[in-house]
Amino acid sequence: MVSGRPGNSELNSWFKTLMVSTTGDRGQAENGGSMPTLSGWKDLPMELLMRIISIVGDGRMVVVASGVCTGWRDALGWGVTNLSLSWCQQNMNDLMISLAPKFTKLQVLTLRQNKPQLEDTAVEVVANYCHDLRELDLSRSFRLSDRSLYALAHGCPRLTKLNISGCSNFSDTALIYLTCRCKKLKCLNLCGCGKAATDRALQAIAENCVQLQSLNLGWCEDVTDKGVTSLASGCPDLRALDLCGCILITDESVVALASGCPHLRSLGLYFCQSITDRAMYSLANSRVNSKHARLDKVKKKEDGGLANLNISQCTALTPPAVQAVCDSFPGLHTCPERHSLIISGCLSLTSVHCACALHPHRAGRALMPSHAY
Ligand SMILES: [Zn+2]
Repeated sequence: MVSGRPGNSELNSWFKTLMVSTTGDRGQAENGGSMPTLSGWKDLPMELLMRIISIVGDGRMVVVASGVCTGWRDALGWGVTNLSLSWCQQNMNDLMISLAPKFTKLQVLTLRQNKPQLEDTAVEVVANYCHDLRELDLSRSFRLSDRSLYALAHGCPRLTKLNISGCSNFSDTALIYLTCRCKKLKCLNLCGCGKAATDRALQAIAENCVQLQSLNLGWCEDVTDKGVTSLASGCPDLRALDLCGCILITDESVVALASGCPHLRSLGLYFCQSITDRAMYSLANSRVNSKHARLDKVKKKEDGGLANLNISQCTALTPPAVQAVCDSFPGLHTCPERHSLIISGCLSLTSVHCACALHPHRAGRALMPSHAY
């Protein structure tokens, strides 16, 4: 990417040439006119336009460039596959409604908002025109209703990644409908979608989205062991699950995940205060060839298994159980450098330490590769 990148001065010269040529002084760059002659903005080769956009363009530049002329608009409509309107502080809704029919090749669309702007009308237009969409970020779209999910279910069956965190109006009925049609979902963020992320919805996800790898259920307070155990049996490829603030879940959920999801790398249990040592021992014992892994823990630190575990505020846990998890998974660390076993708020667990505490020289060496390249 960096190797073929033109320098800033080169690009500036191009733009100066173009600016001059549109004002009538054709082809004369201010620095002496040594650049190739272009008769105007419209003559910019489409390949060059796409290259400039791909190198220096953000969503804002794509929108501005698409308004220059119909030629540019058509070229961008065919060429742009990735667009973000998150920079848009107002009128995101109208902008998306006008852009979607022109940008029908979009595969990645980011509509994350600081203040809610997006409404169902815009999502419906996106679903009507952008059938190739794979990744969609609608986080913090507080105004959206079930209409948006139904539209996406019909228009965007290729979705693999969907972020609707904070969209608190969605119902579980609409989410279930979406999972029935978007069966390729691998990454789903439902953080704060308390009405949508119910046990019923999790059962539908487990049934329909067998490729799921990442699921965020943060603060979905109605989720119980019933929903999580369904996921554990239906989504064997699950690598990351965030259950932070799911206050109803118990050891049963963790036991099911430990046996059903061998690829689990990240588990968030923040504030799941019903979790006890039994859950920790089930995780520790789930490690295949754990004896071998313990013998070789620093060398094989990235060799599968849990690499992130948040058990902050899980106040019922005792040091031996948490130490057992830490010993089983060399990717878990309490040391400040890596801090992947998060136990803040658990005052009784201050005696739990990763291997680095015993072998600081080895820890330093183990850290080398990530910094060396
Ligand atoms: Zn460590």
